[in-house]
Amino acid sequence: MMTITETGTDTKQFWLQERAALTGLPRGKGLNIAFEAVDRHVARRGEHIALRFRRKDRTSLDLTYSDLHRATNRFANALKRLGIGPSDVVATVLGRTPALFITAMGSLKNRSVFCPLFSAFGPEPIRERLRLGKARVVVTTEALYRKKIAPIIADLPDLRRVIYADGDFDGLLAAESDDFTIPPTSPEDPALLHFTSGTTGKPKGALHVHEAVVAHHATARLALDLRAEDRFWCTADPGWVTGTSYGIIAPLTHGVTTIVDEGEFDADRWYRLLQEEKVTVWYTAPTAVRMLMKAGREIVRNYDLSHLRFIASVGEPLNPQAVIWSNQVYGIPIHDNWWQTETGGIMIANIRGMEVRPGSMGRPLPGVEAAIVRHSDDRVEIISDPNVEGEIALRKGWPSMFRAYLGEEERYRKCFAGDWYLTGDLAKRDAGGYYWFVGRMDDVIKTSGHLIGPFEVESALLDHPAVAESAVIGKPDPVAGEIIKAFVALKPGFAASPELHDELLGFARKKLGAVVAPKEIAFLDALPKTGSEKIMRRLLKARELGLPEGDISTVKAS
Ligand code: AMP
Repeated sequence: MMTITETGTDTKQFWLQERAALTGLPRGKGLNIAFEAVDRHVARRGEHIALRFRRKDRTSLDLTYSDLHRATNRFANALKRLGIGPSDVVATVLGRTPALFITAMGSLKNRSVFCPLFSAFGPEPIRERLRLGKARVVVTTEALYRKKIAPIIADLPDLRRVIYADGDFDGLLAAESDDFTIPPTSPEDPALLHFTSGTTGKPKGALHVHEAVVAHHATARLALDLRAEDRFWCTADPGWVTGTSYGIIAPLTHGVTTIVDEGEFDADRWYRLLQEEKVTVWYTAPTAVRMLMKAGREIVRNYDLSHLRFIASVGEPLNPQAVIWSNQVYGIPIHDNWWQTETGGIMIANIRGMEVRPGSMGRPLPGVEAAIVRHSDDRVEIISDPNVEGEIALRKGWPSMFRAYLGEEERYRKCFAGDWYLTGDLAKRDAGGYYWFVGRMDDVIKTSGHLIGPFEVESALLDHPAVAESAVIGKPDPVAGEIIKAFVALKPGFAASPELHDELLGFARKKLGAVVAPKEIAFLDALPKTGSEKIMRRLLKARELGLPEGDISTVKAS
């Protein structure tokens, strides 16, 4: 057996202590994320700014904890009036705006399940997710509705109500009382639904419960070094799990001021925000860091970043050069950390004060038992030797572990072997206990930090009348990590041409949205397949990278 930092009993004890650091619903009525994030601060820190929204035009809007308390109470009352109850799914297709945060917390107060969808998705990914989640309510804007939901509305029989953040949202809230008592909430009540992707099949709805807040709170303190007086900026979009766990929930539980940028990436805009908002803790992603590195070190001199005391990054491999660059240019390293939609919170991290080894994701947090394993069927063999490649496994029992893939018991069960959750990520652990990312075991693609399932992209291409077969891979890219590249074989009667190439790009973009659609398409006469007719994406990838095609089972993500 390898040595692990925490024994089973210690781990349990650790989480019990962390649970005790939270408040819990009054009169022992359970644990509710929204109470920990909002209501419990009102008495002592009601006038403290909870959220500062920086609009695209650089004006800003502040919501104090009391403002958020009242607005989320009103939203919870509105849901109740609409007949939306516990466990009903309330989805958002929204940018980083106040309505998104109010919907998240108001839904949790009502014990409904909050399901944020990335607003850059096209109609197809939105339809799949709203359908699978059986969403009852969706909060969006009029423009997003017209472009992305109107074309698919007929396929959403469970949807009862669309609320427009720039339409009836304010009126709906104004008509309600700002008084709301959160009903008793079991820590095991469902709270959050995050869709993620695998190699095959439909997107997977990872379901999290209210108890997850124990991990959100503890890991933000440990891995992001978050303290009540911080001014925190998480650059992730709340349409992905980081943007919810650490963009919405965790900072609120700590009572900090969160800066929310409604605009898109621009190096000057970002540095100005860090300066003007006196950001102290900044949680970002490797693609953004690489873009900042491209913008150069000169422009950094134009800004005062002296308030910044901690930088962390997640979502894809962080190049060692980025850590070194950060040390040189910002005067502090970037602390890489690792986790997944399924883990709900940070599991492995470089924490404050620990030696940062550039290129490593860090070590398991207290409360987290991680191992490098090999497994077959239900047997897990823990690899105790250092520097041996294997799968990252986590021992069950941390509070933010996903409790289900919605409606897919078998798929969920397959993620576990005995006591271990198998992550699907390959890594090595060095003699100091640091984890080094190697690659994914499946064919999912990480493009600009967004996890994309190849199957979803391939299916959309197959809807085009000219396409007989399609296969999608992640092609290494110096900035985005990977870009989506599709290979297609055409039906008889269709010929490859630059016009058809552009038409297919446009077709996929319209259906899937710019982030999910392929950036490159190549035509092939036929796609390589296994004996059982499975398309060999890995072979295509090996050819694309100019790697030997022999042992393709070892072809990994970049
Ligand atoms: P998601 O579920 O979308 O958050 O994606 C989770 C996946 O992103 C993980 O399983 C990894 O493959 C990848 N990932 C997350 N953090 C890191 C990291 N620090 N280094 C390398 N890959 C990462």
